[in-house]
Amino acid sequence: MEGLVVKNYAGFYYVDTGKAIYMCKARGKFKKDNLKILTGDRVVIKEIVPNSEGVIESLLPRKNELIRPPIANVDQVLIVFAFADPFPSTELIDRLLVMAFALRLEVVLVFNKFDLVNPESQKLFEYYKKILPKVVAITARGDTGIEELTSYLNQKISVLAGPSGVGKSTLINRLVPGAKLATGEVSPKIKRGRHTTRHVELIKLPFGGFIADTPGFSNLTLPEMDKLELQSYFPEFNQNRKYCYFPNCLHVKEPNCRVRELLETGEIPPFRYENYLTFLEEITSDERSS
Ligand code: GDP
Ligand code: ZN
Repeated sequence: MEGLVVKNYAGFYYVDTGKAIYMCKARGKFKKDNLKILTGDRVVIKEIVPNSEGVIESLLPRKNELIRPPIANVDQVLIVFAFADPFPSTELIDRLLVMAFALRLEVVLVFNKFDLVNPESQKLFEYYKKILPKVVAITARGDTGIEELTSYLNQKISVLAGPSGVGKSTLINRLVPGAKLATGEVSPKIKRGRHTTRHVELIKLPFGGFIADTPGFSNLTLPEMDKLELQSYFPEFNQNRKYCYFPNCLHVKEPNCRVRELLETGEIPPFRYENYLTFLEEITSDERSS
């Protein structure tokens, strides 16, 4: 039988076969070969006790692997911000976008608390909607946008990312009746300190798919990349770079740069360009120090 590891706790792997959740031990060869089984792994199990206990016989190939939280086969990142309370930091949005894209993950950008929308955050939302395929405005405490978001989560393994207070726990509780994640200022489960060990669990979504109960991307250091690679994670830069005079234009001081022309005309907003320069600088200084 094939199944998905949804939790690893106290020496047992909890494997969801679609029919039941089996408490499993791994075969000895896993330890011998130093093969680590992660939450999110697809495995083949042998049933020991009908519908309750089994043994993991083998591990199917992994599509990818996140470090924190440790989870395999992630399809997409749900980057969550709020229209207000707290007002979104575009630097953090853009940083999380770059990090997700660099890992080849799909992105759903969620703006929560639509009930608190204001003209500034509405403008940000509209800009991101123009450059990214999946951007959705929701009210986690209500109904706005929930159906659209559900369609993006369906059949996928998703991980949340985003600052605290934007409504991540509220959203999980909204999507999974009975998940009962603590919300508000002092929330133990989803907001533990980064040095506390956590057993990441995949929560089954009632409409299909899974969502990790622990937010990812708490380490905000950009991954190592080439300077030219960065712009490929800014879709509107990437689309226009072919019109720059130099094929390897970094859009800093080069002549006849289309990206800076678009900045002049206001088609690319200053915050996107500034964040790009900030990241470019970070990447550059990494290269110098190594
Ligand atoms: P987390 O830190 O991202 O997990 O955020 P929480 O889920 O703990 O939510 C932080 C606060 O925002 C709580 O007081 C929630 O009740 C509130 N909140 C969540 N969703 C909404 C929403 O759609 N609208 C409004 N106005 N508040 C919300
Ligand atoms: Zn250029």
